[in-house]
Amino acid sequence: MFSIFRKKCAICKKKAAQPRKYYDDQRKPIVVCSACVSYAERRAFQKRGF
Ligand SMILES: [Zn+2]
Repeated sequence: MFSIFRKKCAICKKKAAQPRKYYDDQRKPIVVCSACVSYAERRAFQKRGF
């Protein structure tokens, strides 16, 4: 079975080591790596609850 899509950070485009789930400003579900979380918070991306 294929793994789900690879979790790449939507901000730095690198493979996210510890991906956090957010919605971007267009309400698209994105993944943000731990290094970019503060950026996501600043952009007011919304956290995706589980
Ligand atoms: Zn990142």
